[in-house]
Amino acid sequence: MEYRSYRDTDCRPSLLGLGCMRLPTLEPGGTAIDYARAGALVDEAVRGGITYFDVAYPYHGGGAEKFIGAALEKYPRESFYLATKMPLWKLETQEDMEQVFNEQLANCRVDYFDFYLCHAVDAERFEKIRRIGAFEFLARKKAEGKIRRLGFSFHDKPAVLRAICAAYPWDFAQLQLNYLDWTVQRAREQYEILQEYGLPCIVMEPVRGGALASLCPEAEAVLKAKAPGRSIASWAIRFAASLPGVLVVLSGMSSEEQLADNLAAMSPFQPLTKSEQNALTRAVRIDKRAQRIPCTGCRYCMPCPFGVDIPGLFKAYNRCAAAKSTGRFLKESGDIPAAARPAACRACGKCARVCPQHIGIPEEMAKLRALEEKLREK
Ligand code: SF4
Ligand code: SF4
Repeated sequence: MEYRSYRDTDCRPSLLGLGCMRLPTLEPGGTAIDYARAGALVDEAVRGGITYFDVAYPYHGGGAEKFIGAALEKYPRESFYLATKMPLWKLETQEDMEQVFNEQLANCRVDYFDFYLCHAVDAERFEKIRRIGAFEFLARKKAEGKIRRLGFSFHDKPAVLRAICAAYPWDFAQLQLNYLDWTVQRAREQYEILQEYGLPCIVMEPVRGGALASLCPEAEAVLKAKAPGRSIASWAIRFAASLPGVLVVLSGMSSEEQLADNLAAMSPFQPLTKSEQNALTRAVRIDKRAQRIPCTGCRYCMPCPFGVDIPGLFKAYNRCAAAKSTGRFLKESGDIPAAARPAACRACGKCARVCPQHIGIPEEMAKLRALEEKLREK
């Protein structure tokens, strides 16, 4: 495992971080964490050299902070770095911020956070940070020693990122950065803005919610020919970790297999060579033709008031699109009940307003509904 220094200090988190958004759950698709399996995953991560753990107030229906607090309690506090995030959407006043921040410390069973972020900042939330004085509140917490480094996670356009970086003396930022979004969602421009402001970058969604763990068969063939022993997901992890200025690459791991694969990609970490980068560029060009829906499975859009299983449907569709077999959509999504299928969507738009990927969810549901009807007619 590689450990990179935060701004040339003795703060040296592991290059691979454990994201706690998709921990093993008791029910498939549910939010209740399977403490036994998820606890074993954390222990295995620690044994593998991971020292950075990323959580947030709403993950797992609000249960992830309590879980990670319990899982890490047996380790010396200075042996790991803990990051969590302020749920700006819930807060209006200084009292709200004080109450939630103290709740988070109690949830996580710590008396300080190593990294603390304003969560999922876009133009609207940036305005809210200004309006409710969130930065000033958090800067006070930093002065009190309850926050060691203060940053924000980001989901918007490069111009908004520039304005946020210019507005306050942040310590770091967290970006969605992967080889697909590098050009599609202008992740490259965002990364370059952080470089310009000298802000260390924590990478989220390097595997795009699992979407880059498998590509279309022709694209996978290009990568397998180049590096036969490496998994497809490992290319995504190594792409992000190869960028200078990246401090930690987070991976939201759900299983022992994913953890083992990610650790293998990092132990030892070898940056992508020029010829590997060329192979990746070729594979991306081929895979883009599959036209998958850019859903990361974050579940911010859930629950749908009409019961639609939005991430489940998109995941099933993307599996078909990657394999170039959308005719298998009914089979691939067979475990999703009728009441949660695209026909249940009333196009209310609630989901699309909160989707950080800016997916036109009602429109995609209409397309999936049409696809289902066509397949059922056959
Ligand atoms: S637009 Fe459709 S999928 Fe989205 S919240 Fe409304 S009913 Fe649910
Ligand atoms: S549709 Fe958007 S909000 Fe919903 S799970 Fe996918 S990326 Fe997340």
